[in-house]
Amino acid sequence: MVKVRFAPSPTGYLHIGGARTALFNWMYAAAQGGKFVLRIEDTDRIRSKSEYVDEILESMKWLGLTWDEIYYQSDRFDLYRKYAQNLLDAGKAYKEGDAVILKMPQQEVVIYDLIRGKITFDTATIKDQVLMKSDGSPTYSFACVLDDALMDITCVVRGEDHISNTPKQMIIYEALGFKIPKFAHLPLIMGEDGSRLSKRTGAVAVTDYQQEGFLPEALVNYLMLLGWSPGNNQEIIKLAAAVKKFSIKKVNKAAAVFSMEKLKWLNGQYIKSMETDALTELLMPFLKEKGYIKGDFDGQKLKNIVHLFQGRLSTLKDFLEWADFVFVDHLTIDEDAQQKHLAQDRSKEFTLLHERFSLVYPFNASTLEKAFRDVVSELGLKASDLVHPVRVALTGRAVGPGLFETIDVLGKEKTIKRLSEAFMKQEAE
Ligand code: GLU
Repeated sequence: MVKVRFAPSPTGYLHIGGARTALFNWMYAAAQGGKFVLRIEDTDRIRSKSEYVDEILESMKWLGLTWDEIYYQSDRFDLYRKYAQNLLDAGKAYKEGDAVILKMPQQEVVIYDLIRGKITFDTATIKDQVLMKSDGSPTYSFACVLDDALMDITCVVRGEDHISNTPKQMIIYEALGFKIPKFAHLPLIMGEDGSRLSKRTGAVAVTDYQQEGFLPEALVNYLMLLGWSPGNNQEIIKLAAAVKKFSIKKVNKAAAVFSMEKLKWLNGQYIKSMETDALTELLMPFLKEKGYIKGDFDGQKLKNIVHLFQGRLSTLKDFLEWADFVFVDHLTIDEDAQQKHLAQDRSKEFTLLHERFSLVYPFNASTLEKAFRDVVSELGLKASDLVHPVRVALTGRAVGPGLFETIDVLGKEKTIKRLSEAFMKQEAE
């Protein structure tokens, strides 16, 4: 029976690296019909914070990485003391002050890592290891080994940065007389500039991605590609399908590169493939927070707006920028767009459009298009002469979806008002 664990220290938020480790453990357990244990390594009483614990649990749930068992090391101090005493009694450890220290035997240690293959260590360079600190708390390695053994963990899957801990921990297993589990060390995650993942290159909390409007399914999909691939150049794959193909032995040795651009692309793909109704639901908290939606609102109209921009969003938050012109009363016009498309006097054209658009009934994309084309031909212009100026006057920017669909979702009242503002402004200049 496969049993794996994710063992975060609640001294910080769950970030990309931790979430990737959690995911690979979770997938390994799911692929093997095994169990996934969450172990909160909160032995450091000063640096561990309960808000970090809450945040880690929330992030795990948000990502869909549910656990079969959960433990807190702070509940297990008696156990660590008991086993430390056993080692003292057996003469394998000694006391220095109140600290308990393991005598390091001089021997070679070999790990058969499921990802990296055979790794040989010479423990001659490893000093005697502190197991219990003088304040009565266990060291990371001692608590980790004891728990992995007592919780029947069959394989330790963790980041490559822990490789140097593994030989020390194997010696602790041997001293305690426990069976040594398998090990699989996941490749490092680097920023695109080749440096270690930092805040600047994406190593921010999972909750930050949530707040930016990434979908958990997309983030999980992206995380699984950091060191693993489903094959056939496939990139978009749901968790359930990935589990069917996942093997820990197929994880890459080489460092994985975190690309924000790729994550955004993937997120955009997930957004695009959603039902518009469901997407609208997800956008609600963002719209409310921004103050774009208060009290009652026209649900169908909102869905139409969402539908119009659905294919252009990389994140949920992007919607606020794309569609702001629909929600705000006072439009801010992009300066470049103003220079480029509103420098020429179009007051005559805007006046005529204002008149015709006021009469259009019903007010929709096809009736608007007809009125627009009539105006254009009466004035002896080309449609392209007016499309951009009108778009900028109504939306504040030079790019966007189809003009008539855009005007449709903007609605009659704001359209008319903005056209009159535009010609009055131009006449005044
Ligand atoms: N608490 C350790 C960490 O967060 C766990 C390392 C391990 O998985 O053994 O890095």
